[in-house]
Amino acid sequence: MARAPGRDQQGDISEFEVKGRPFGGAITLRESMAVRGCGQSVMEIALVTAEEAAMLFSKGYYVMYKSMEQILRQGKAAGCPFWEVVLLDDCKERNVTRGESFATLAGMYRAMKEADAAYDGGLFSASGLSGGDGQKLEKAVREGRMLCGGLIGTVMEKAVKMGESNACMKRIVAAPTAGACGVLPAVFLALEAERKFPEEKMVEALYVSVGIGGVIAGRAFIAGASGGCQAEIGSASAMAAGGAAYLMGGGGEEIVHAAAMAMKNLLGLACDPVAGLVEVPCVKRNVIGAVNALTSADMAMAGIKSKIPPDEVIDAMRSIGTAMPPCVRETGQGGLAATPTGVQIMQGLSEKM
Ligand code: SF4
Repeated sequence: MARAPGRDQQGDISEFEVKGRPFGGAITLRESMAVRGCGQSVMEIALVTAEEAAMLFSKGYYVMYKSMEQILRQGKAAGCPFWEVVLLDDCKERNVTRGESFATLAGMYRAMKEADAAYDGGLFSASGLSGGDGQKLEKAVREGRMLCGGLIGTVMEKAVKMGESNACMKRIVAAPTAGACGVLPAVFLALEAERKFPEEKMVEALYVSVGIGGVIAGRAFIAGASGGCQAEIGSASAMAAGGAAYLMGGGGEEIVHAAAMAMKNLLGLACDPVAGLVEVPCVKRNVIGAVNALTSADMAMAGIKSKIPPDEVIDAMRSIGTAMPPCVRETGQGGLAATPTGVQIMQGLSEKM
């Protein structure tokens, strides 16, 4: 199916993933998160086979963690919190100092903030399918009309705004992909504003998210074309849930169980973008990813654990994604895209082009 040029895969790593990354490839900070629109590549090394991984490793590239369990173990052994294990891994992998690594991630966080601040409620995507909804939510929050209350209302507003900015080709941070770019900023920016966390703490939480995203990318996938929307919104939600748990004082156990519960709640989610554009249902799905992250973090902080261990949840996501038919893996041929209205929208857009 034809897709609007430049709309759908920017910031994603599907082109690598469709080649079939094996269980446990190299995961990098750059792979978990990337700023689109400022010249940074999503991934500088792409591993597609175990042999390539071994070859790159022999050339000095660092192969990151294969499991959450491994990060927890390493943290215990070294006496480091979860976020610091991920930071040290980045230092090793990119051969940078702690300060340089921290500055890179702080830059990502600031880029998220700038993208949020740059939202333009009067802007619509080229297709006309996206735009203006973030502004409506902002007004409803301001007027106290949200059933969900202030914090959740703000999270919803920010998630939609970022999704719309992506659809309008504005600068966003793909975390882990462009389609799911609203989840992390919505959770992080809303929590920072409400709880007044210093930037340093926010960046530490972002390392937590990066570590979770890295494990998911290596163990399963983070692109809708590979594993359905569970791989994009589900992964982003797990990343945000772990970060939120950390911000609320959680240690390694709370972090990984928050991530696991967030992922479990979105298992099986189809990737069915109408007309192949990352707009419908993508923009609004960022809302459920963000809100799910908060509720999962709350459950973990209340002492609730996922009965299925976090790494096994990721494995389940992989097996479900692999079993999904292609029509619900970003081909725009199934699910919502195949509804009479979805088809009508696609035909209308094709005639315009
Ligand atoms: S529906 Fe597909 S394209 Fe849209 S956010 Fe989900 S995975 Fe990405």
